[in-house]
Amino acid sequence: MKFGTKAIHAGVHPDESTGAIMTPIYQTSTYVQDGVGNHKGYEYSRTLNPTRHALEKNIAAIENGKYGACFGSGLAAIDCIIKMLNPGDEVISTNDLYGGTYRLFRTIFEKYGIKFHFTAMQDASAVSDLVNENTKLIWVETPTNPMMNIIDIKAMSAIAKSCGAWLCVDNTFATPYLQNPLDLGADIVMHSVTKYLGGHSDVVMGALVTSDDAIAAEMYRIQNSSGAVTAPMDSFLVLRGIKTLHLRMQRHCENGEKIAHFLKGHAKVDKVYWPGFEDHPNHNVAKDQMRGFGGMISFTLKGNKIEDAHEIVKKVELFALAESLGGVESLIGHPATMTHASIPKEEREKSGVVDSLIRLSVGVEDVEDLIADLEQALS
Ligand SMILES: *Cc1c(COP(=O)(O)O)cnc(C)c1O
Repeated sequence: MKFGTKAIHAGVHPDESTGAIMTPIYQTSTYVQDGVGNHKGYEYSRTLNPTRHALEKNIAAIENGKYGACFGSGLAAIDCIIKMLNPGDEVISTNDLYGGTYRLFRTIFEKYGIKFHFTAMQDASAVSDLVNENTKLIWVETPTNPMMNIIDIKAMSAIAKSCGAWLCVDNTFATPYLQNPLDLGADIVMHSVTKYLGGHSDVVMGALVTSDDAIAAEMYRIQNSSGAVTAPMDSFLVLRGIKTLHLRMQRHCENGEKIAHFLKGHAKVDKVYWPGFEDHPNHNVAKDQMRGFGGMISFTLKGNKIEDAHEIVKKVELFALAESLGGVESLIGHPATMTHASIPKEEREKSGVVDSLIRLSVGVEDVEDLIADLEQALS
């Protein structure tokens, strides 16, 4: 089955008791049993709920995996994976990791004796250099935020296999429409469903997908034991959102490409970071592992003045100034004072987050209107 068909049909069936074509919102905590131990597959909604179950099967299918699990947020999904590790285990990850993931690793799990390394993963040899007998997990995010670096998933998979570690890919930015990490050798895929999968900026949720039986058993055990599950109503909203994921992503990509080119040709713009450009340092890897380049773009201004960046994010009218990404509406952000404000200036500048850097999450509006809005704000 191809992607769009799976997005609409995988995991969902008309309701047997009424014929309702849409999966009902099973707003229930428990399920009546006919006799002790005699139930219909559902006992308690922390363990399993029919609406969430349909969504978990759907997300597993669009990521070409066997098992899916949904959580109360993207960070709760990441929390589940790190809980599979033991004290003394080591994790290698990228140095421009999503800030919330970095905080979870450093301020929660380090004190349980798990060690985290961060490096520029675009360079595979930098990763190999950190491998030792305690390496249990390689954690990849690609494209990265906000610099849009591309990490070679196949190369990371080769390193993980050589040392017996798991490879997990945070696929939030690319979505399964553009990139399927399991097909490229990853053991686990993670999503902040909050972003493109939900797609309408109305739900906070996370998900994991794997095809490995042993990892899946641990994933469901921790999901049930820690209890960071997602609600039936939210599961319903995301099931509805995913039905148009392929249509939205197609438009995000088309609009992203036009806006990236518009920015590159603008006199006030200095650098544009978007993996679709041939002169992007990792363009060939992006072309190899992605089916399109998406709607996330970062750019800097000539002169690199923070006041200029602040003025632009204030002057735009269609682009909303907000954190988050991946919704149908276009968003604009200023990493140095928003998402990356807690990182010291010298540190963030090393990874490219300079004062004038602006990040766009290009929505699915008419692109002429978006370009006109950026043009008036820049001039
Ligand atoms: C937002 C985000 C997360 C965290 O997800 P939440 O749903 O906000 O908990 C993790 N990784 C990436 C790349 C994100 O953009």
